[in-house]
Amino acid sequence: MPRGAAGAALLAILTVSLGFAAGELLCACDVPHCNVSTCRGKVCFVSKSREGGSVTRRKGCFSQHLLESCRGPVMEHFGTKCCNASMCNAHLEIYLRGEEAPGPAAALPGLLLLTVVPLLGLLLLAALAALFGWKLVQHRRAGARGRAGEADLPLKASVAGDSTLEDLLGDDCTTGSGSGLPFLVQRTVARQIALAECVGKGRYGEVWRGVWHGESVAVKIFSSRDEQSWFRETEIYNTVLLRHDNILGERRDGDGDGDGDRDGDGDGTGRSTLAAPPPPGFIASDMTSRNSSTQLWLITHYHEHGSLYDYLQRTALDGAGCLALASSIICGLVHLHVEIFGTQGKPAIAHRDLKSRNILVKSNRQCCIADLGLAVMHSQGSDYLDVGNNPRVGTKRYMAPEVLSEQIRTDCFESYKKTDIWAYGLVLWEIARRTVVNGIVEEYRPPFFDVVPSDPSFEDMRKVVCVDQQTPAVPNRLFSNAVLSALAKVMKECWYQSPSARLTALRIKKTLKKLSHSLEKPKQEC
Ligand code: ADP
Ligand code: MG
Repeated sequence: MPRGAAGAALLAILTVSLGFAAGELLCACDVPHCNVSTCRGKVCFVSKSREGGSVTRRKGCFSQHLLESCRGPVMEHFGTKCCNASMCNAHLEIYLRGEEAPGPAAALPGLLLLTVVPLLGLLLLAALAALFGWKLVQHRRAGARGRAGEADLPLKASVAGDSTLEDLLGDDCTTGSGSGLPFLVQRTVARQIALAECVGKGRYGEVWRGVWHGESVAVKIFSSRDEQSWFRETEIYNTVLLRHDNILGERRDGDGDGDGDRDGDGDGTGRSTLAAPPPPGFIASDMTSRNSSTQLWLITHYHEHGSLYDYLQRTALDGAGCLALASSIICGLVHLHVEIFGTQGKPAIAHRDLKSRNILVKSNRQCCIADLGLAVMHSQGSDYLDVGNNPRVGTKRYMAPEVLSEQIRTDCFESYKKTDIWAYGLVLWEIARRTVVNGIVEEYRPPFFDVVPSDPSFEDMRKVVCVDQQTPAVPNRLFSNAVLSALAKVMKECWYQSPSARLTALRIKKTLKKLSHSLEKPKQEC
Protein backbone atom coordinates (compact mmCIF):
# COMPACT_ATOMS: atom_id res chain seq x y z
CA MET A 1 0.00 0.00 0.00
CA PRO A 2 1.33 3.45 -0.84
CA ARG A 3 0.96 4.83 2.61
CA GLY A 4 2.84 1.93 4.24
CA ALA A 5 5.84 2.02 1.94
CA ALA A 6 6.09 5.78 2.07
CA GLY A 7 5.76 5.58 5.82
CA ALA A 8 8.69 3.20 5.91
CA ALA A 9 10.78 5.57 3.80
CA LEU A 10 9.87 8.49 5.96
CA LEU A 11 10.50 6.51 9.08
CA ALA A 12 13.94 5.67 7.81
CA ILE A 13 14.69 9.34 7.35
CA LEU A 14 13.34 10.18 10.79
CA THR A 15 15.24 7.33 12.33
CA VAL A 16 18.60 8.44 11.08
CA SER A 17 17.93 12.01 12.07
CA LEU A 18 18.33 10.92 15.65
CA GLY A 19 22.05 10.97 15.39
CA PHE A 20 21.97 14.66 14.56
CA ALA A 21 19.72 15.75 17.46
CA ALA A 22 21.23 17.78 20.25
CA GLY A 23 18.07 18.58 22.13
CA GLU A 24 16.79 18.81 25.63
CA LEU A 25 13.85 16.44 25.90
CA LEU A 26 14.26 12.85 26.92
CA CYS A 27 11.99 10.62 24.83
CA ALA A 28 11.15 6.94 24.68
CA CYS A 29 12.89 5.44 21.65
CA ASP A 30 12.60 2.11 19.88
CA VAL A 31 13.82 2.96 16.37
CA PRO A 32 16.55 0.59 15.21
CA HIS A 33 19.35 3.10 15.67
CA CYS A 34 18.62 3.91 19.29
CA ASN A 35 21.28 2.12 21.26
CA VAL A 36 19.35 2.61 24.47
CA SER A 37 15.59 2.85 24.95
CA THR A 38 15.66 6.66 25.09
CA CYS A 39 16.91 9.51 22.95
CA ARG A 40 17.20 13.28 23.26
CA GLY A 41 15.61 15.73 20.85
CA LYS A 42 13.48 18.84 20.42
CA VAL A 43 10.21 16.90 20.47
CA CYS A 44 9.16 13.31 21.08
CA PHE A 45 7.09 11.42 18.55
CA VAL A 46 5.14 8.24 18.06
CA SER A 47 4.45 7.04 14.57
CA LYS A 48 2.54 4.21 13.06
CA SER A 49 2.49 2.96 9.49
CA ARG A 50 0.86 0.07 7.75
CA GLU A 51 2.96 -2.06 5.37
CA GLY A 52 0.97 -4.85 3.73
CA GLY A 53 -0.82 -6.57 6.59
CA SER A 54 1.48 -5.53 9.39
CA VAL A 55 1.51 -2.35 11.40
CA THR A 56 4.79 -0.75 12.51
CA ARG A 57 4.85 1.50 15.59
CA ARG A 58 7.85 3.61 16.42
CA LYS A 59 8.85 6.02 19.16
CA GLY A 60 11.71 8.45 19.04
CA CYS A 61 12.69 12.07 18.89
CA PHE A 62 13.05 14.70 16.18
CA SER A 63 16.06 16.90 15.94
CA GLN A 64 15.78 20.60 15.25
CA HIS A 65 15.95 20.01 11.50
CA LEU A 66 12.75 18.01 11.44
CA LEU A 67 10.78 19.96 14.03
CA GLU A 68 8.39 21.40 11.51
CA SER A 69 7.61 17.89 10.31
CA CYS A 70 5.38 17.54 13.39
CA ARG A 71 2.89 19.98 11.96
CA GLY A 72 2.78 19.35 8.23
CA PRO A 73 0.05 17.39 6.46
CA VAL A 74 2.65 14.82 5.45
CA MET A 75 3.06 13.74 9.05
CA GLU A 76 -0.69 13.44 9.62
CA HIS A 77 -0.85 11.25 6.58
CA PHE A 78 1.68 8.83 7.99
CA GLY A 79 0.11 8.74 11.44
CA THR A 80 2.62 10.62 13.53
CA LYS A 81 2.02 12.50 16.77
CA CYS A 82 4.49 14.75 18.52
CA CYS A 83 4.52 15.91 22.14
CA ASN A 84 6.59 18.31 24.17
CA ALA A 85 7.39 16.87 27.58
CA SER A 86 10.01 14.44 28.74
CA MET A 87 9.00 10.85 28.00
CA CYS A 88 5.56 12.07 26.86
CA ASN A 89 5.64 9.56 23.99
CA ALA A 90 6.11 6.57 26.27
CA HIS A 91 2.39 5.83 26.43
CA LEU A 92 1.03 8.06 23.66
CA GLU A 93 -1.46 6.11 21.51
CA ILE A 94 -2.03 6.75 17.86
CA TYR A 95 -4.78 5.55 15.52
CA LEU A 96 -4.46 5.25 11.77
CA ARG A 97 -7.36 6.08 9.51
CA GLY A 98 -9.79 3.16 9.73
CA GLU A 99 -8.84 2.44 13.33
CA GLU A 100 -10.88 3.77 16.20
CA ALA A 101 -9.94 4.90 19.63
CA PRO A 102 -11.69 2.80 22.29
CA GLY A 103 -14.41 4.72 24.11
CA PRO A 104 -18.04 5.46 23.38
CA ALA A 105 -18.48 2.36 21.21
CA ALA A 106 -18.16 0.19 24.32
CA ALA A 107 -21.22 1.87 25.78
CA LEU A 108 -23.57 1.09 22.88
CA PRO A 109 -26.58 -1.01 23.78
CA GLY A 110 -26.12 -4.70 23.01
CA LEU A 111 -28.97 -4.87 20.47
CA LEU A 112 -27.52 -2.06 18.40
CA LEU A 113 -24.15 -3.76 18.46
CA LEU A 114 -25.66 -7.05 17.35
CA THR A 115 -27.38 -5.55 14.30
CA VAL A 116 -25.29 -2.60 13.20
CA VAL A 117 -21.84 -4.15 13.61
CA PRO A 118 -22.42 -7.20 11.36
CA LEU A 119 -24.07 -4.92 8.79
CA LEU A 120 -21.09 -2.59 8.81
CA GLY A 121 -18.81 -5.58 8.60
CA LEU A 122 -20.59 -6.80 5.46
CA LEU A 123 -20.41 -3.36 3.90
CA LEU A 124 -16.72 -3.15 4.69
CA LEU A 125 -16.09 -6.55 3.14
CA ALA A 126 -17.90 -5.50 -0.04
CA ALA A 127 -15.88 -2.28 -0.19
CA LEU A 128 -12.62 -4.17 0.33
CA ALA A 129 -13.52 -6.65 -2.43
CA ALA A 130 -14.24 -3.79 -4.82
CA LEU A 131 -10.98 -2.06 -3.86
CA PHE A 132 -9.05 -5.30 -4.30
CA GLY A 133 -10.57 -5.81 -7.77
CA TRP A 134 -9.70 -2.27 -8.76
CA LYS A 135 -6.14 -2.60 -7.45
CA LEU A 136 -5.72 -5.87 -9.37
CA VAL A 137 -6.69 -4.18 -12.63
CA GLN A 138 -4.34 -1.28 -11.86
CA HIS A 139 -1.52 -3.65 -10.99
CA ARG A 140 -1.88 -5.62 -14.23
CA ARG A 141 -1.86 -2.45 -16.28
CA ALA A 142 1.15 -1.18 -14.42
CA GLY A 143 2.97 -4.50 -14.78
CA ALA A 144 2.56 -4.31 -18.54
CA ARG A 145 4.30 -0.96 -18.65
CA GLY A 146 7.11 -1.77 -16.22
CA ARG A 147 7.98 0.36 -13.28
CA ALA A 148 7.10 3.53 -15.13
CA GLY A 149 3.52 2.32 -15.19
CA GLU A 150 3.17 3.15 -11.53
CA ALA A 151 2.53 6.65 -12.80
CA ASP A 152 -1.10 5.64 -12.47
CA LEU A 153 -0.93 5.91 -8.72
CA PRO A 154 -3.61 8.34 -7.63
CA LEU A 155 -0.86 10.58 -6.30
CA LYS A 156 0.25 11.44 -9.81
CA ALA A 157 -2.62 13.71 -10.64
CA SER A 158 -2.50 15.61 -7.42
CA VAL A 159 1.21 15.81 -6.78
CA ALA A 160 3.29 15.45 -9.89
CA GLY A 161 0.87 16.06 -12.72
CA ASP A 162 2.69 16.86 -15.92
CA SER A 163 5.35 18.83 -14.14
CA THR A 164 8.96 18.87 -15.15
CA LEU A 165 11.63 18.40 -12.52
CA GLU A 166 12.34 22.09 -12.86
CA ASP A 167 8.72 22.85 -11.90
CA LEU A 168 8.77 20.50 -8.95
CA LEU A 169 12.01 21.81 -7.54
CA GLY A 170 11.09 25.45 -7.90
CA ASP A 171 11.68 27.60 -4.83
CA ASP A 172 8.15 27.28 -3.49
CA CYS A 173 8.10 23.53 -3.49
CA THR A 174 10.69 22.37 -1.01
CA THR A 175 10.41 21.00 2.49
CA GLY A 176 12.10 24.10 3.81
CA SER A 177 14.74 22.03 5.53
CA GLY A 178 17.01 20.05 3.24
CA SER A 179 17.70 20.24 -0.47
CA GLY A 180 14.90 17.86 -1.37
CA LEU A 181 11.23 17.75 -2.25
CA PRO A 182 8.50 16.93 0.26
CA PHE A 183 8.72 13.23 1.05
CA LEU A 184 5.48 12.28 -0.71
CA VAL A 185 6.56 13.99 -3.92
CA GLN A 186 9.95 12.27 -3.71
CA ARG A 187 8.19 8.96 -3.51
CA THR A 188 5.83 9.74 -6.37
CA VAL A 189 8.68 10.83 -8.64
CA ALA A 190 10.62 7.69 -7.75
CA ARG A 191 7.70 5.42 -8.67
CA GLN A 192 7.35 7.07 -12.08
CA ILE A 193 10.88 6.41 -13.27
CA ALA A 194 11.64 3.88 -16.00
CA LEU A 195 15.16 2.45 -15.74
CA ALA A 196 17.00 2.66 -19.07
CA GLU A 197 20.62 1.47 -18.68
CA CYS A 198 23.23 0.76 -16.03
CA VAL A 199 25.84 3.55 -16.19
CA GLY A 200 28.05 2.79 -13.23
CA LYS A 201 28.87 0.30 -10.57
CA GLY A 202 30.20 1.57 -7.28
CA ARG A 203 31.42 -0.65 -4.52
CA TYR A 204 28.01 -0.65 -2.93
CA GLY A 205 25.44 -0.73 -5.67
CA GLU A 206 24.58 0.25 -9.21
CA VAL A 207 23.78 3.55 -10.86
CA TRP A 208 21.24 3.57 -13.68
CA ARG A 209 20.12 6.18 -16.13
CA GLY A 210 16.39 6.44 -15.67
CA VAL A 211 13.77 8.47 -17.47
CA TRP A 212 11.18 10.59 -15.68
CA HIS A 213 8.66 12.43 -17.88
CA GLY A 214 11.16 12.38 -20.74
CA GLU A 215 14.09 13.70 -18.66
CA SER A 216 17.15 11.64 -17.78
CA VAL A 217 17.80 11.11 -14.08
CA ALA A 218 20.42 9.04 -12.28
CA VAL A 219 19.08 6.29 -10.04
CA LYS A 220 21.51 4.91 -7.49
CA ILE A 221 20.28 1.52 -6.34
CA PHE A 222 21.91 0.52 -3.08
CA SER A 223 22.45 -3.11 -2.27
CA SER A 224 20.60 -3.96 0.91
CA ARG A 225 23.88 -4.61 2.73
CA ASP A 226 24.79 -0.97 2.19
CA GLU A 227 21.62 0.33 3.77
CA GLN A 228 23.66 2.68 5.95
CA SER A 229 25.07 4.56 2.94
CA TRP A 230 21.53 5.12 1.65
CA PHE A 231 20.46 6.33 5.10
CA ARG A 232 23.40 8.68 5.23
CA GLU A 233 23.03 10.18 1.74
CA THR A 234 19.28 10.51 2.21
CA GLU A 235 19.75 12.17 5.56
CA ILE A 236 22.32 14.62 4.29
CA TYR A 237 20.30 15.62 1.23
CA ASN A 238 17.06 15.90 3.23
CA THR A 239 18.35 17.79 6.25
CA VAL A 240 21.22 19.86 4.92
CA LEU A 241 20.91 22.60 2.34
CA LEU A 242 23.62 21.64 -0.10
CA ARG A 243 23.09 24.21 -2.80
CA HIS A 244 26.37 24.39 -4.59
CA ASP A 245 27.35 24.03 -8.22
CA ASN A 246 30.12 21.61 -7.34
CA ILE A 247 28.20 19.23 -5.12
CA LEU A 248 25.80 16.72 -6.58
CA GLY A 249 23.10 17.86 -4.18
CA GLU A 250 22.96 21.34 -5.69
CA ARG A 251 19.60 22.61 -6.87
CA ARG A 252 20.66 23.63 -10.37
CA ASP A 253 23.63 23.25 -12.62
CA GLY A 254 25.59 26.51 -12.82
CA ASP A 255 23.13 29.02 -14.13
CA GLY A 256 23.57 31.50 -16.92
CA ASP A 257 26.99 31.41 -18.51
CA GLY A 258 27.97 28.46 -16.37
CA ASP A 259 26.42 26.07 -18.83
CA GLY A 260 26.24 28.33 -21.83
CA ASP A 261 29.37 26.89 -23.34
CA ARG A 262 28.41 23.32 -22.80
CA ASP A 263 28.49 22.51 -26.47
CA GLY A 264 31.00 25.18 -27.36
CA ASP A 265 34.13 23.20 -26.59
CA GLY A 266 32.29 19.95 -26.65
CA ASP A 267 32.89 16.71 -28.45
CA GLY A 268 30.48 17.44 -31.24
CA THR A 269 27.92 14.87 -30.15
CA GLY A 270 25.41 17.59 -29.36
CA ARG A 271 23.77 15.48 -26.67
CA SER A 272 22.73 18.39 -24.50
CA THR A 273 20.20 20.93 -25.55
CA LEU A 274 20.98 24.54 -24.94
CA ALA A 275 17.36 25.61 -24.70
CA ALA A 276 16.12 23.46 -21.83
CA PRO A 277 17.33 24.39 -18.33
CA PRO A 278 19.15 21.48 -16.72
CA PRO A 279 17.28 19.68 -13.95
CA PRO A 280 18.51 20.01 -10.37
CA GLY A 281 20.87 17.82 -8.33
CA PHE A 282 19.25 15.78 -5.60
CA ILE A 283 15.74 14.81 -6.58
CA ALA A 284 14.40 12.04 -4.41
CA SER A 285 15.06 9.13 -2.14
CA ASP A 286 12.83 6.10 -1.97
CA MET A 287 12.54 2.85 -0.08
CA THR A 288 10.18 0.12 -1.23
CA SER A 289 9.77 -3.49 -0.40
CA ARG A 290 9.63 -5.77 -3.40
CA ASN A 291 9.32 -9.53 -3.26
CA SER A 292 10.25 -9.44 0.41
CA SER A 293 13.51 -7.56 -0.22
CA THR A 294 14.09 -3.87 0.39
CA GLN A 295 14.99 -1.62 -2.52
CA LEU A 296 16.79 1.61 -1.74
CA TRP A 297 16.96 4.31 -4.39
CA LEU A 298 18.57 7.71 -4.50
CA ILE A 299 17.62 9.83 -7.49
CA THR A 300 19.81 12.68 -8.64
CA HIS A 301 20.52 14.75 -11.71
CA TYR A 302 22.08 12.64 -14.46
CA HIS A 303 25.53 13.70 -15.65
CA GLU A 304 26.16 12.27 -19.08
CA HIS A 305 29.96 12.51 -18.86
CA GLY A 306 29.93 10.18 -15.87
CA SER A 307 32.65 10.16 -13.23
CA LEU A 308 35.94 12.04 -13.45
CA TYR A 309 37.59 8.61 -13.54
CA ASP A 310 35.63 7.70 -16.69
CA TYR A 311 36.18 11.13 -18.21
CA LEU A 312 39.96 11.05 -17.74
CA GLN A 313 40.18 7.65 -19.46
CA ARG A 314 39.03 9.17 -22.74
CA THR A 315 39.90 12.86 -22.47
CA ALA A 316 43.27 14.64 -22.61
CA LEU A 317 43.21 18.16 -21.18
CA ASP A 318 44.93 21.47 -21.78
CA GLY A 319 46.17 23.67 -18.92
CA ALA A 320 42.90 25.64 -18.69
CA GLY A 321 40.79 22.47 -18.72
CA CYS A 322 42.95 20.92 -16.02
CA LEU A 323 42.65 24.02 -13.85
CA ALA A 324 38.87 24.20 -14.39
CA LEU A 325 38.41 20.63 -13.14
CA ALA A 326 40.78 21.13 -10.20
CA SER A 327 39.21 24.46 -9.19
CA SER A 328 35.66 23.20 -9.37
CA ILE A 329 36.46 20.21 -7.15
CA ILE A 330 38.15 22.36 -4.52
CA CYS A 331 35.20 24.81 -4.62
CA GLY A 332 32.91 21.88 -3.83
CA LEU A 333 35.21 20.66 -1.08
CA VAL A 334 35.42 24.10 0.54
CA HIS A 335 31.63 24.27 0.59
CA LEU A 336 31.43 20.83 2.21
CA HIS A 337 34.11 21.61 4.82
CA VAL A 338 32.77 24.97 5.93
CA GLU A 339 30.02 25.37 8.51
CA ILE A 340 27.49 28.04 7.56
CA PHE A 341 25.47 29.57 10.38
CA GLY A 342 21.87 30.79 10.26
CA THR A 343 18.60 29.35 9.01
CA GLN A 344 20.01 28.78 5.53
CA GLY A 345 23.15 27.30 7.08
CA LYS A 346 24.75 23.91 7.01
CA PRO A 347 27.01 21.90 9.29
CA ALA A 348 30.62 21.33 8.31
CA ILE A 349 30.89 18.08 6.35
CA ALA A 350 33.92 15.91 5.58
CA HIS A 351 33.51 13.52 2.65
CA ARG A 352 35.81 10.64 3.69
CA ASP A 353 35.72 8.89 0.31
CA LEU A 354 36.96 11.50 -2.13
CA LYS A 355 38.30 9.93 -5.34
CA SER A 356 37.92 10.35 -9.09
CA ARG A 357 35.08 7.79 -9.17
CA ASN A 358 33.10 9.85 -6.66
CA ILE A 359 33.40 13.06 -8.65
CA LEU A 360 31.13 13.66 -11.65
CA VAL A 361 31.86 15.78 -14.71
CA LYS A 362 29.05 18.13 -15.67
CA SER A 363 28.11 19.26 -19.14
CA ASN A 364 30.00 22.55 -18.63
CA ARG A 365 33.18 20.56 -17.82
CA GLN A 366 33.01 21.57 -14.17
CA CYS A 367 32.95 18.82 -11.58
CA CYS A 368 30.59 18.05 -8.75
CA ILE A 369 31.36 15.91 -5.74
CA ALA A 370 29.06 12.91 -5.30
CA ASP A 371 28.61 9.87 -3.05
CA LEU A 372 28.08 11.29 0.43
CA GLY A 373 27.44 7.83 1.91
CA LEU A 374 30.37 8.06 4.29
CA ALA A 375 30.28 11.75 5.17
CA VAL A 376 30.66 13.04 8.73
CA MET A 377 29.02 16.23 9.99
CA HIS A 378 30.06 18.68 12.66
CA SER A 379 28.35 21.63 14.31
CA GLN A 380 30.53 24.02 16.28
CA GLY A 381 27.66 25.39 18.37
CA SER A 382 26.78 22.05 19.91
CA ASP A 383 30.28 20.66 19.24
CA TYR A 384 28.43 17.61 18.00
CA LEU A 385 30.35 15.25 15.73
CA ASP A 386 28.03 12.99 13.76
CA VAL A 387 30.04 10.16 12.26
CA GLY A 388 26.89 8.24 11.29
CA ASN A 389 26.48 4.55 11.79
CA ASN A 390 28.16 3.17 8.71
CA PRO A 391 30.48 0.16 8.83
CA ARG A 392 31.80 1.17 5.37
CA VAL A 393 35.34 2.56 5.20
CA GLY A 394 36.91 4.80 2.56
CA THR A 395 38.77 3.50 -0.50
CA LYS A 396 42.14 2.00 0.54
CA ARG A 397 44.05 3.46 -2.40
CA TYR A 398 43.09 6.99 -1.32
CA MET A 399 43.56 6.52 2.43
CA ALA A 400 45.78 9.02 4.22
CA PRO A 401 48.76 7.75 6.25
CA GLU A 402 47.03 8.38 9.58
CA VAL A 403 44.06 6.25 8.47
CA LEU A 404 46.31 3.41 7.32
CA SER A 405 48.37 3.54 10.52
CA GLU A 406 45.14 3.80 12.53
CA GLN A 407 46.51 6.84 14.30
CA ILE A 408 43.73 9.16 13.17
CA ARG A 409 41.91 11.03 15.94
CA THR A 410 38.43 9.77 15.16
CA ASP A 411 36.84 12.06 17.76
CA CYS A 412 38.13 15.22 16.07
CA PHE A 413 36.33 16.61 13.02
CA GLU A 414 39.44 18.39 11.71
CA SER A 415 41.13 15.00 11.21
CA TYR A 416 38.53 13.97 8.63
CA LYS A 417 39.00 17.20 6.66
CA LYS A 418 42.74 16.48 6.48
CA THR A 419 42.10 13.03 4.99
CA ASP A 420 39.96 14.68 2.28
CA ILE A 421 42.92 16.95 1.45
CA TRP A 422 45.26 13.97 1.06
CA ALA A 423 42.77 12.40 -1.35
CA TYR A 424 42.29 15.70 -3.20
CA GLY A 425 46.07 15.77 -3.85
CA LEU A 426 45.80 12.31 -5.43
CA VAL A 427 42.87 13.39 -7.64
CA LEU A 428 44.88 16.43 -8.71
CA TRP A 429 47.73 14.11 -9.68
CA GLU A 430 45.33 11.98 -11.79
CA ILE A 431 44.11 15.12 -13.60
CA ALA A 432 47.62 16.54 -14.13
CA ARG A 433 48.88 13.32 -15.74
CA ARG A 434 46.15 13.68 -18.37
CA THR A 435 47.16 17.25 -19.22
CA VAL A 436 49.15 17.88 -22.38
CA VAL A 437 52.39 19.82 -21.74
CA ASN A 438 54.96 20.20 -24.50
CA GLY A 439 52.89 17.87 -26.63
CA ILE A 440 53.26 15.04 -24.09
CA VAL A 441 50.50 13.39 -22.08
CA GLU A 442 50.38 10.17 -20.08
CA GLU A 443 47.72 7.50 -20.06
CA TYR A 444 45.25 7.50 -17.25
CA ARG A 445 46.50 5.62 -14.20
CA PRO A 446 45.15 5.47 -10.66
CA PRO A 447 47.35 6.75 -7.81
CA PHE A 448 50.08 4.30 -6.70
CA PHE A 449 49.45 2.17 -9.82
CA ASP A 450 53.17 1.38 -10.01
CA VAL A 451 53.63 0.21 -6.43
CA VAL A 452 50.46 -1.67 -5.41
CA PRO A 453 48.30 -4.32 -7.15
CA SER A 454 44.99 -3.45 -8.81
CA ASP A 455 42.88 -4.13 -5.73
CA PRO A 456 45.36 -3.25 -3.00
CA SER A 457 44.91 -4.57 0.51
CA PHE A 458 45.06 -2.36 3.57
CA GLU A 459 48.49 -3.87 4.29
CA ASP A 460 49.76 -3.14 0.73
CA MET A 461 48.77 0.48 1.13
CA ARG A 462 50.09 0.79 4.67
CA LYS A 463 53.52 -0.43 3.58
CA VAL A 464 53.75 2.04 0.67
CA VAL A 465 52.20 5.09 2.35
CA CYS A 466 53.21 4.74 6.02
CA VAL A 467 56.31 2.57 6.14
CA ASP A 468 58.03 3.68 2.90
CA GLN A 469 56.31 7.10 3.00
CA GLN A 470 55.93 7.15 -0.78
CA THR A 471 53.87 9.68 -2.69
CA PRO A 472 53.01 9.48 -6.42
CA ALA A 473 55.80 10.55 -8.79
CA VAL A 474 55.03 13.98 -10.28
CA PRO A 475 55.85 14.00 -14.02
CA ASN A 476 58.83 16.25 -14.85
CA ARG A 477 57.13 17.87 -17.83
CA LEU A 478 54.69 19.63 -15.46
CA PHE A 479 57.51 21.89 -14.26
CA SER A 480 57.92 23.48 -17.68
CA ASN A 481 54.45 25.03 -17.41
CA ALA A 482 53.66 27.75 -14.85
CA VAL A 483 50.15 26.54 -14.05
CA LEU A 484 51.04 22.85 -13.91
CA SER A 485 54.12 23.42 -11.76
CA ALA A 486 51.98 25.43 -9.33
CA LEU A 487 49.53 22.52 -9.25
CA ALA A 488 52.42 20.12 -8.62
CA LYS A 489 53.39 22.21 -5.61
CA VAL A 490 49.82 22.09 -4.30
CA MET A 491 49.77 18.28 -4.65
CA LYS A 492 52.91 17.93 -2.62
CA GLU A 493 51.49 20.14 0.10
CA CYS A 494 48.47 17.83 0.30
CA TRP A 495 50.73 14.85 0.92
CA TYR A 496 52.56 15.73 4.11
CA GLN A 497 52.63 12.80 6.50
CA SER A 498 51.61 15.14 9.27
CA PRO A 499 47.92 16.05 8.75
CA SER A 500 48.30 19.48 10.34
CA ALA A 501 51.01 20.44 7.83
CA ARG A 502 48.67 19.88 4.85
CA LEU A 503 47.00 22.79 3.09
CA THR A 504 43.38 23.60 3.91
CA ALA A 505 40.74 23.43 1.19
CA LEU A 506 40.27 27.20 1.43
CA ARG A 507 44.00 27.81 0.95
CA ILE A 508 44.02 25.61 -2.17
CA LYS A 509 40.93 27.32 -3.54
CA LYS A 510 42.61 30.72 -3.20
CA THR A 511 45.80 29.51 -4.86
CA LEU A 512 43.90 28.05 -7.80
CA LYS A 513 41.83 31.19 -8.16
CA LYS A 514 45.02 33.23 -8.52
CA LEU A 515 46.24 30.78 -11.13
CA SER A 516 42.98 31.13 -13.04
CA HIS A 517 43.37 34.90 -13.05
CA SER A 518 46.91 34.51 -14.33
CA LEU A 519 45.49 32.60 -17.30
CA GLU A 520 43.49 35.76 -18.03
CA LYS A 521 40.29 33.86 -18.65
CA PRO A 522 37.40 34.90 -16.48
CA LYS A 523 36.38 31.94 -14.32
CA GLN A 524 33.10 31.38 -12.58
CA GLU A 525 33.15 32.51 -8.96
CA CYS A 526 32.25 29.94 -6.39
P1 ADP B 1 28.79 4.01 -4.82
O1 ADP B 1 28.28 4.57 -3.53
O2 ADP B 1 28.25 2.64 -5.09
O3 ADP B 1 30.27 4.11 -4.95
P2 ADP B 1 28.55 6.31 -6.59
O4 ADP B 1 27.57 7.36 -6.18
O5 ADP B 1 29.97 6.58 -6.29
O6 ADP B 1 28.13 4.90 -5.97
O7 ADP B 1 28.34 6.02 -8.15
C1 ADP B 1 29.02 4.96 -8.82
C2 ADP B 1 29.30 5.34 -10.27
O8 ADP B 1 28.06 5.60 -10.96
C3 ADP B 1 30.10 6.62 -10.42
O9 ADP B 1 31.49 6.37 -10.38
C4 ADP B 1 29.65 7.13 -11.79
O10 ADP B 1 30.35 6.45 -12.81
C5 ADP B 1 28.19 6.69 -11.86
N1 ADP B 1 27.29 7.78 -11.41
C6 ADP B 1 26.94 8.06 -10.14
N2 ADP B 1 26.09 9.10 -10.07
C7 ADP B 1 25.89 9.53 -11.33
C8 ADP B 1 25.12 10.59 -11.92
N3 ADP B 1 24.39 11.42 -11.17
N4 ADP B 1 25.17 10.75 -13.26
C9 ADP B 1 25.92 9.91 -14.03
N5 ADP B 1 26.67 8.89 -13.54
C10 ADP B 1 26.67 8.68 -12.21
MG1 MG C 1 31.26 5.76 -4.99
